[in-house]
Amino acid sequence: MIMTHGQQRAAPDGAFGEARQEPPADGSARRRAQRAPMREIVIVGGGFGGLGLARALRAAGAPCRVRILERSPEPPPDRFGITLAPNGLRALEAMGVLGEVVEKGCMLDAIEVVRSGRTSGARLEFACLKQRTPYAVGILPRALQAVLEQGIGPDAEVLYGHEVLDLVFRDGRVREIVTRSPAGQHRFPAHVVVGADGVRSSVRKYVASDAVVRPVDEAYQIVLGGPVRGVRSVQQHIAPGRLLGLVPVASDRTFIFWLTRRNEAAAVRQQPIERFRAMLSRHAPVVEEPLSSLRDWRDVFSTSITLTHSRRWYARGVALLGDTLHATTPSLAQGANMALVDAVCLAEALARWCASPDDTPDSHLRRYQDARRAQATFQYYLGQLVVRSSIATSPLLARCKLGSLEAMSRNPMSRRLLLETITGLRPLAYDPSGGVA
Ligand SMILES: Cc1cc2nc3c(=O)[nH]c(=O)nc-3n(C[C@H](O)[C@H](O)[C@H](O)COP(=O)(O)OP(=O)(O)OC[C@H]3O[C@@H](n4cnc5c(N)ncnc54)[C@H](O)[C@@H]3O)c2cc1C
Repeated sequence: MIMTHGQQRAAPDGAFGEARQEPPADGSARRRAQRAPMREIVIVGGGFGGLGLARALRAAGAPCRVRILERSPEPPPDRFGITLAPNGLRALEAMGVLGEVVEKGCMLDAIEVVRSGRTSGARLEFACLKQRTPYAVGILPRALQAVLEQGIGPDAEVLYGHEVLDLVFRDGRVREIVTRSPAGQHRFPAHVVVGADGVRSSVRKYVASDAVVRPVDEAYQIVLGGPVRGVRSVQQHIAPGRLLGLVPVASDRTFIFWLTRRNEAAAVRQQPIERFRAMLSRHAPVVEEPLSSLRDWRDVFSTSITLTHSRRWYARGVALLGDTLHATTPSLAQGANMALVDAVCLAEALARWCASPDDTPDSHLRRYQDARRAQATFQYYLGQLVVRSSIATSPLLARCKLGSLEAMSRNPMSRRLLLETITGLRPLAYDPSGGVA
């Protein structure tokens, strides 16, 4: 089955203040754009990164045709929730969809980290961030995907049920892409291919054969529970070697996750579901109500985590983005946010290339790599540190971690620095609303 989406609904042009719909501003660039042939950009993967790029290309006014090739026959069902941090929200603002996203999700005012069984600990309020989006938003993946897909515009389409098999190169540049769908094999012309196809990318090998793809000792049991009353924050309840997280993601849904080491996941799932529910409620009494309707292990999604890291972000007209390059631990809540920031930065580079008929794509893709790689590298090392500290079973380490977070949260300067670091605003972060911060 091949389903074509993307042309049904018009994007909310100019509905939100920060959308950049205009072609490149100076007159000569505009004239060059007018004589440039329509460029074909093919995006592999219709996740947040791929759809975000299509939306950002439209917001940047890039004169190009965009085709998104997605392996799944349709968008996947919701199995977990997403916290959009200030960096991701700024990217959504640049795409012109922030208002819709806020409307569909839950606005959150702080991150709270508390010791298991307690009710208070470190509280980091987003309001201390000096910027336009000093909050976070909890949202369900399908709601976010729907907002992004709606706005991709008439020159873009999503082809579901197309698995990318191969890229064809001629004269040192990508020229075609080969897919398989239930109807057979297909070839699509491409001036640029973007690999937004996640951790197990099939495009990455054409750019970065030496990229790191590293499973880490972390497994999650995830429940989309019922509503949680009176909570407007991201909460993490910490015990040695354990972590219970909680994020309101819709008026009637709470994303709840339980982190253990990989080799413990099977044992966790062997216990009766009632015992699992009671154990989570002991760790964080606040989850008792949202978990009250949980009756079956089939409603608990299980996943383990792989980190990725690459030095090379583009080659021969092929660029990478999102988890393909820098998948991180969900407890940092930065994977989707960074994919959205990548999308805005890459769209700007591609819009400049579309306006310059004589340039090769790689001279513009280099700017994208230069603007984004430092932050992704930082997040890769931070991710490893966070994984190690989450699974460490030493009670002393857990106490030290909580103690230092509490101390930092009490001081305005250290609180802000900490929040900026964990929400992807530092260091050397590309600012989607105006270059490198
Ligand atoms: C439990 C959990 C909780 C998370 N919580 C958060 C959070 O709170 N905040 C946050 O920022 N991040 C979070 N993340 C991370 C976030 O989900 C990812 O970082 C994000 O989805 C990456 O987006 P992407 O578009 O790069 O890749 P993906 O979302 O993985 O999308 C890749 C797409 O490519 C498609 N594809 C793969 N191969 C092919 C092929 N050969 N041909 C065609 N299509 C292909 C796939 O089907 C998929 O749709 C969480 C992740 C998990 C697992």
